[in-house]
Amino acid sequence: MKLIIAAIATLGLTTGALAQQPPAPPTFAATKVEGTENVYIFRYMNHQAMFIVTPAGVIATDPISYGRPQAAKAYLEEIRKITQAPIKYLVYSHHHYDHIAGGKVFKDAGAKVVAHKRAKERLTTLKGVDVVIPDETVNQKKTIKLGGTTLELVFTGRNHSDSSLVMFLPKEKIIFAVDFNSLGAVPSRLAVNDSYPIEWEASLKKTLSLDWERMIPGHPGPGGRLGTKKDMEQQLAFLTDLSGEVKKASAEGKCFTPADTELKMPQYATLQGYEQNLAWNVHRWCGYWGRGI
Ligand SMILES: [Zn+2]
Repeated sequence: MKLIIAAIATLGLTTGALAQQPPAPPTFAATKVEGTENVYIFRYMNHQAMFIVTPAGVIATDPISYGRPQAAKAYLEEIRKITQAPIKYLVYSHHHYDHIAGGKVFKDAGAKVVAHKRAKERLTTLKGVDVVIPDETVNQKKTIKLGGTTLELVFTGRNHSDSSLVMFLPKEKIIFAVDFNSLGAVPSRLAVNDSYPIEWEASLKKTLSLDWERMIPGHPGPGGRLGTKKDMEQQLAFLTDLSGEVKKASAEGKCFTPADTELKMPQYATLQGYEQNLAWNVHRWCGYWGRGI
């Protein structure tokens, strides 16, 4: 009897503990952006893309299927639950595979693949697995008008990559911007690997000069929230201060070591990933200021 009571008590505790845990989010989901009629986010695990549904067709972006071809299939199926309109475009945010592998599903559905011209150059050379080469390219700016929606593809300069396009919906005041603005976080190792210090700051300023209010990020923000201009201003301040500090350290002969372990920016210690990622940022900027890399 004692044993049974103990077992029930244990079960009760376990059930109680389980009940307190938030349910695990589904692997993928398509959600309409609040306050819009036709702008959606498709999220697959930790990546996300924007798509726009119009009566004349769909503008999809980033297939987010690197190493998981099922993601692009799920993405198209989610679109098909909303509309049977043709898929007219697939726009790449930049050339990194984790965002753009898997475009074949969309190309087969009739989409024209659009990207920055340097994305096409790089992808043509690299011939990555499951990466569709763009059909059309953008240099500085291109406007897509479809079924009453206007989408501007704007190159605001080199930042996290040399091929990033800001996808700007002027009527909705929404942008889809990927990997060059980490919401409330210090950029990760992968975010700074292929980056362009100084130019990144200029690109953020140019992006801030566009008339938008909400930003859909390529990776879900804290609690799944969208980005704001305040987030982007914070990222700009961080990069500006980082650059200034590392330039000074470099002039003192401290790059790469000991700057990569010693340089601290306590005013940003509350940003997510500060402890894990700061050294990678210092390393990247040390390369720039100390070695001209
Ligand atoms: Zn990237």
